Amino acid sequence: MAKWHQLTSAAVLNELRTDAASGLTESEAEFRLNQYGHNELAGTGTKSSWQILWEQLKALMVMILIVAATVSALLGDYKDAVAIGAIVVLNALLGFSQEYRAEKAIAALKKLAIPSVKVRRGGHVKEISASHLVPGDIVLLEAGNLLPADCRLLQSADLQTHEATLTGESEPIRKITLTIEAADVALGDRRNMAFLGTFITAGRGEGVVTETGMRTELGRIASLIQTVAPESTPLQRRLDHLGKILALAALALVLLIFALGLIRGEELKLLFLTAVSIGVAAVPEGLPAVVSIALTLGAQRMLRRNVLIRKLPAVETLGSITVICSDKTGTLTENRMTATILKTAERTLDVADHLQKNGTEKVEVVGQPDVALLVAGGALCNDAFLSSEEDSGSSMPIGDPTETALVAVATHFGLMKTDLERALERVAEIPFTSERKRMTTIHRLPSDLERIPAGLATALRGCRSAYVAFTKGAVDSLLAISTSVWVDGKLEFLSQTKLDQLADSNNALAKSGMRVLGIGFRCLDLLEDLSDSANERDLTFVGMVGMIDPPRPAVASAVARCKAAGIRPIVITGDHPLTAQYVAREVGIAGECPVLLGTALEHCSEAEIEGLVESTTIYARVSPEHKLKIVRALQNRGQIVAMTGDGVNDAPALRKADIGVAMGARGTDVAKETADMVLLDDNFATIVAAVEEGRVIYDNVRKFVRYILATNSGEIWLMLAAPFLGMPLPLLPLQILWMNLVTDGLPAVALGVEPAEEDTMRRPPRPPSESLFSRGLGAYVLWVGLLIAVLSLGTGYWYWRHSDSHWQTMLFTTLTLSQMAHVLAVRSENQSLFHIGILSNRALLAAVILTVLLQLALIYAPALQVLFRTAALSFRDLVLSIAISSVVFWAVEVEKWYCRHKAAGSI
Ligand code: ATP
Repeated sequence: MAKWHQLTSAAVLNELRTDAASGLTESEAEFRLNQYGHNELAGTGTKSSWQILWEQLKALMVMILIVAATVSALLGDYKDAVAIGAIVVLNALLGFSQEYRAEKAIAALKKLAIPSVKVRRGGHVKEISASHLVPGDIVLLEAGNLLPADCRLLQSADLQTHEATLTGESEPIRKITLTIEAADVALGDRRNMAFLGTFITAGRGEGVVTETGMRTELGRIASLIQTVAPESTPLQRRLDHLGKILALAALALVLLIFALGLIRGEELKLLFLTAVSIGVAAVPEGLPAVVSIALTLGAQRMLRRNVLIRKLPAVETLGSITVICSDKTGTLTENRMTATILKTAERTLDVADHLQKNGTEKVEVVGQPDVALLVAGGALCNDAFLSSEEDSGSSMPIGDPTETALVAVATHFGLMKTDLERALERVAEIPFTSERKRMTTIHRLPSDLERIPAGLATALRGCRSAYVAFTKGAVDSLLAISTSVWVDGKLEFLSQTKLDQLADSNNALAKSGMRVLGIGFRCLDLLEDLSDSANERDLTFVGMVGMIDPPRPAVASAVARCKAAGIRPIVITGDHPLTAQYVAREVGIAGECPVLLGTALEHCSEAEIEGLVESTTIYARVSPEHKLKIVRALQNRGQIVAMTGDGVNDAPALRKADIGVAMGARGTDVAKETADMVLLDDNFATIVAAVEEGRVIYDNVRKFVRYILATNSGEIWLMLAAPFLGMPLPLLPLQILWMNLVTDGLPAVALGVEPAEEDTMRRPPRPPSESLFSRGLGAYVLWVGLLIAVLSLGTGYWYWRHSDSHWQTMLFTTLTLSQMAHVLAVRSENQSLFHIGILSNRALLAAVILTVLLQLALIYAPALQVLFRTAALSFRDLVLSIAISSVVFWAVEVEKWYCRHKAAGSI
């Protein structure tokens, strides 16, 4: 069979049994989905349950324990062998359940990250998940879309794609719909096809899906992509490193204890098992796993706060953010535009006032041709529309809010967009770009102007040409290409005085926080060159529309939290400097501070920009390339930057930022694909919420590390010191394993869900290079470890000296209970447990209670007594053990009290 690119569009549609105008029916699409499977690349999914279980079992520590159990069994000690086996199984189950939850969370996140696609099905345009596409589907494509599958193109309005992932070609490829005869054409030259893995940089088009999933061109080379190892985070790398050091230390320790034991003439089998158990105690095997679980579950929690994490390391980086660069429209404001002021050379109309006087009644603008021209131009040079709701009879604006506001205001003045378009058919367009800050549409003028609504006809009568082009955009960008202005139904030369007047009006509106759009027109006789430079010139400026867009209610408090957390919020907008200044002031980002224009960055050297970014809080009239310069300069100044973006051209800045933030509702697929996280509600407050979660997650990992290292080091000190006191081995191998793998594990996992502390957002960001042992963690591990060892060993020693047969149970119990006392105190690095509330982490409380009950079972249940060589403690001894262990809690609380008061300067 000929290849897809060799067939005509009709032949492709025929071959795929589909119809370009109505697409597949839903039932046919469902049938094909069953036949071809989901449109996904195989192998990029998540791990299966068996894989997770296998990974748990093949961990080095588990292997060593299995060897230990086997050795015990060979030496005839079946009880020990079974007990070690049971502990290994318990530990693996605990690890498995955690990993499993984390994997489920990742799978859910991945699913959410699949882009949606506009398809034609059953005669309607629908949005579906890209994974549900089947061959034969008709897809609608526009700038910013990722290609969801391989397609043969049916329509191309200047459609251009970026295909570097597939072909290495870095320049955009202009697409065509014509048939390409030759069979062996390189992928990059099959210009009537568009491929999965590429994206659309400009234009619009339609295509029919030819291949999905692994049958696509990308699918064929997918095995190459799948081999890319998942990126580990700096914290994970640091913990891996720490793990290696501790493993070496453990080896040395094991050898030392072995040697000491041999000298003292301990039994060889006991020594072997003790050495293995201490090795287990010394190596915090679970650390890297805990981090990945904490990050994943954190990402899941963030989803509940409307943040979709796309790259896991972002969760960690969020905690270090020092600057948030946010755009204005839709992020700080609601993106609910309402046109309130219309301004032409002749009059200023307060639309709100007008509405109040006239209610929702439509008003004819017969006597006001300038207003008619202004609002008609705004509605025609416009891609939004009003869709009528069949049930309610009302109409809903669809499209960009700036544009829907213009359609709405035209409707109010009796000019319906559908009527206007019928009378003045659109024949060409030059789409909006944020670099030019304007767009143009060209319309055919009817020979009979009577067909045009009256007010507008009066205005257009002077045109006497075949076409009229309307341009709308930022007033400054429009004035720059205007040569005349529309006054009293005539063109008047745009003198410098007039220009200054218009700029002043624009500034006055912008100063009150309005987005101001200018509208101009030009009469054309011929339609030749459709480039922007040929058409966007010599305009007649008609007037401007001022729109209000209220700030989002939650933003002001989020800005305050952000500042309290030592994070600088910065506004980077394409809008007018005065509008930007107004909004920044309203939400509390900046008072009367200067605004830097994007163009000012164009002539600066890197060093100059670095100087500017230090003191600038508001950037206006910025285009995407300026954003990249700002991010780079901020980073060179040592800042950790979060940057928002939504367009195709924002991708480089999003990629460069430490955290690229894309908008879920407004953002293009390309921006979302590049970003580290996506805001599902486009809200600035959500970025701040994500930063808070990021900080909490890091704090919790640190608490976990504090707890595990201090506790484990306590056990090691104790084992090391005992021989010097002349004591026999203070803990039996099974007891050590039990503590490390079961009783330590439960509370430690519960530390991962510790809620945010009061000061989480009141302290400065953590430097990303900060060592895990900074802020006194090393010293803490040392002194708490020693305290735990002294208390437990001291108790054991005293009982041993008084030849009490229960000395080992006393020591073992005191050690376990001190760990429980410690975990309660470690919940906050500086707040007292009584302040944060004992019930504020119920999972941890439950884990502590369960562990204490297990310990009591070990002491009092006869079967366990035999296995763990314990003896029932008297009530007096048990109370004493509890009292001694609680010293750890009080000691840590006193240290926190001291640090709190020292920080406050009251000591
Ligand atoms: P932000 O970066 O805060 O989201 P923005 O939406 O104002 O800002 P752009 O989309 O780059 O940024 O718009 C820049 C300017 O272009 C706007 O201030 C407005 O004057 C003009 N503009 C925006 N949308 C349109 C449009 N659909 N047609 C014509 N001009 C537009």
